[in-house]
Amino acid sequence: MPKESILVVEDEEDIAELVNYNLGKEGYEITCAATGEDGLKLARIKRPSLIILDLMLPGMDGLEVCKALRNDPATHEMAVVMLTAKGEESDIVVGLELGADDYIIKPFSPKVLIARIKAILRRKSRTIPTEESCIKIHELVITPGRHEVLHKGKSVDLTFTEFGVLHLLARRPGWVFTRNQILDAARGHDALATDRAVDVQIVGLRKKLGSAGKYIETVRGVGYRFKE
Ligand code: CA
Repeated sequence: MPKESILVVEDEEDIAELVNYNLGKEGYEITCAATGEDGLKLARIKRPSLIILDLMLPGMDGLEVCKALRNDPATHEMAVVMLTAKGEESDIVVGLELGADDYIIKPFSPKVLIARIKAILRRKSRTIPTEESCIKIHELVITPGRHEVLHKGKSVDLTFTEFGVLHLLARRPGWVFTRNQILDAARGHDALATDRAVDVQIVGLRKKLGSAGKYIETVRGVGYRFKE
């Protein structure tokens, strides 16, 4: 199997070293950059499969780098994982909305880092079902064409908005969606206007899904995701 390459953009040497050492040991090819500007340059030259991007960088910060990566056709497909410090949930939300795929909160253990990176690469390589295709996940069968959800073979009666929210999350299990992203996706079905309204929809959705409601996980301070 060809080695997958990872670019680490982090100015703190000890963290860069920790990431470099542990992921290198797993067989990934690692490149490091200490500034956002260098990170962008290396992303274009090296074309890594995944970029670990610290948000707090001197000069161009991680959020700006993320935006630049997503706006460049040469780099916009790359997986971007933000490194953030505890308590930076608002930055995580902004980063996800700018197109980052996931985040890891510092401090982290090497084990957690490796597991998360593997999961992100696995998710990234998985094909996302098209808008119309039927999704079978856990005990649920979701058929978009018919707006139908079956739980253990029994039909679940959902509103258009609830269906839209479930479909968005279940199409990409494991990915975190912010309330804004959920709002955007569900807009146009029926009234759903505020963050609070998203939470209310989720509560209703979980209730109707019964024992499958637990698969919709709350990510504190960030949003929601469907369990892998
Ligand atoms: Ca830093």
